[in-house]
Amino acid sequence: MLCKVKDELREGFETEDWLNKRYRIKDGYKWLQGSMEKVNWYDWVWNHFNIPKHTFINWLSALDRLRTRDKLVQFGVCDSTECLLCGEDVETSNHLFFACSYSAKVIDDVAYWLGLHNSLLHSLNNWKNWKERGKNSIQQRVALACLSAVVYNIWMARNHALWYKVVLRPDLLSKGVKREVVTRCQQMINHTWKIEDCLVFPEPFLEGTRDLFDLVLVLCSCFKPFLEGGKAELKIMVVDCLCC
Ligand SMILES: [Zn+2]
Repeated sequence: MLCKVKDELREGFETEDWLNKRYRIKDGYKWLQGSMEKVNWYDWVWNHFNIPKHTFINWLSALDRLRTRDKLVQFGVCDSTECLLCGEDVETSNHLFFACSYSAKVIDDVAYWLGLHNSLLHSLNNWKNWKERGKNSIQQRVALACLSAVVYNIWMARNHALWYKVVLRPDLLSKGVKREVVTRCQQMINHTWKIEDCLVFPEPFLEGTRDLFDLVLVLCSCFKPFLEGGKAELKIMVVDCLCC
């Protein structure tokens, strides 16, 4: 194994001329990886605002590797293709995301919460419509994190229905999605965020939780003199408030 790597790197030193120019580990790593095409769903799946477990399920979904019932029947491990969430159609990836009447309720509720009103949202192929909602990269990532959370939670609801024979109410599922995204964004907030980025969430939705909207209100009341400022002032507000 080591000899193989040694031979590969020798080729790299010859073809990339690393002996005669400054060598960086990054160059060797990229060379070993080879040329890789950037997939068109990169921004949606590999969005670092996503909760990691959401990213994994979304990655499988983008690759069409989720074991939906249409596939399970082909494998001979299941004898029904009926959707476990609505019981109205064949359970395929396209049906679950989001042709299914159950999934449509969840995606509509979350989209409405974010101020999105677009029938094109009813397909993962149109994930860019979520990205376009944001006015800057932070808001775009927040919107895509919402989409990823919806995909994950619908898949979990489907698994719950399979194993426990219970279908969770779609309104409770969307409430859980919103809570997860807000909690994640509270972890991601830093000095690059502006007030308008915090206000991307329209209203506090769970009493007793300190969501982003509450956070802004706390900051506003504690640090009114800084409210008119930009990034630097927001950094002071966030750091001070999180310490108290
Ligand atoms: Zn369905």
